[in-house]
Amino acid sequence: MSTVVDRFIRYAKVATPSDPNNETQTPSNPEEFDLARLLCDELRALGYADAAVDDHAYVTAHVPASAGAEDLPCLGLIAHIDASPDAPAHGVNPRVVRYEGGELTLGVVDGTPITINEQNTPGLEELAGKDIICSDGSTLIAADDKAGVAEIMELAARLAADPSIPHPRLALCFAPDEEIGHGCSLLDLDAFGAEVAYTVDGGPIGEVEFETFNAASADVHFRGHEIHPGSAKDIMVNALHLFEEYDAMLPAWERPEHTEGYEGFFHLHGVSGTCTSATARYIIRDHDRERFEQRKQLMRDAATFMNARLGEDRVTCDLHDEYYNMASVIRDHMELVDRAKQAFADCGYEPEVVPVRGGTDGSQLSLRGLPCPNLATGGYNYHSVREFLPVFALEGMVDVLQRLVGIFATR
Ligand SMILES: [Zn+2]
Repeated sequence: MSTVVDRFIRYAKVATPSDPNNETQTPSNPEEFDLARLLCDELRALGYADAAVDDHAYVTAHVPASAGAEDLPCLGLIAHIDASPDAPAHGVNPRVVRYEGGELTLGVVDGTPITINEQNTPGLEELAGKDIICSDGSTLIAADDKAGVAEIMELAARLAADPSIPHPRLALCFAPDEEIGHGCSLLDLDAFGAEVAYTVDGGPIGEVEFETFNAASADVHFRGHEIHPGSAKDIMVNALHLFEEYDAMLPAWERPEHTEGYEGFFHLHGVSGTCTSATARYIIRDHDRERFEQRKQLMRDAATFMNARLGEDRVTCDLHDEYYNMASVIRDHMELVDRAKQAFADCGYEPEVVPVRGGTDGSQLSLRGLPCPNLATGGYNYHSVREFLPVFALEGMVDVLQRLVGIFATR
């Protein structure tokens, strides 16, 4: 096996699921320190003397520029160390198997075969004959984003071993809690020192992403009036029915299960309540800022309409913006997208610019002043026990990153 495969498997075995129930702490899961310290030790062993782990499990290090590139702007490379909490992330035991085409059974879990096929994994058949890294079906492998971590670390190892590889000064960051929307918010950008950066946290090899959703969350509260059902006539107000009325005013065709590409949505992801009171939790997503604002306004207007009809304030809509589309920043730095596309093409991969139907650490960083598109890692089926990583893509992304830093060293 190549060194980057060994490296990926070593990192994948360290359990680091972030914890959505402990968002106020960073890292949300102390286990994230296990991988942070491992990476820091490896960076120091490679000779990167300023490698450090801070109190929040951020790993940072700098790679001095190659000879002649010292005056070029510092380039950041960022990946995240946490794994998705959406699928089991403990006891990960990645294995390399040859995908022969057709359906592949990863394992049998509680009597149910866990399989990948063209239907649940579009594009799979193109990988026939290739080696892939997958789990036994009981866990994810956290290629999101340990593939990104392994690729950046492998690049750092190559640069340490061969000083003739051209590159500007590099700032490396491995951050916690991306999966719970933390967004690199505690990264000290002045100390990091990069003028532009990339996250390595995308999907199949070739992907370049600079458009993310604009994102908000809404907690909608419904206040009912409880009374014995036998004497409820003209008095009871059932908060659960208020919720039903409210939800029916949001367009049913604008839900995640009916949208793709640049189509935004309202997503109801939780309801709790009784006759007395109820709360519905939504997320709102749209690439277009104006439509995003209109969606939020529709949610406010629905509450206003109901309160007016009821004659009292029984519906309140608490909206909270989460992140914004980084395209508003990257459009002034399209050379970042062009250089990434060139790096893929130079390494023999078809570059493909795709809109992210989500956010990345780069969304927040770009809005904070560090323009930061997102690059492929090579992986598939993130946040799922069906996650896998083609070996050629893992190895290929190291070459792409090496080419990319070379492009930044020559202009
Ligand atoms: Zn990720």
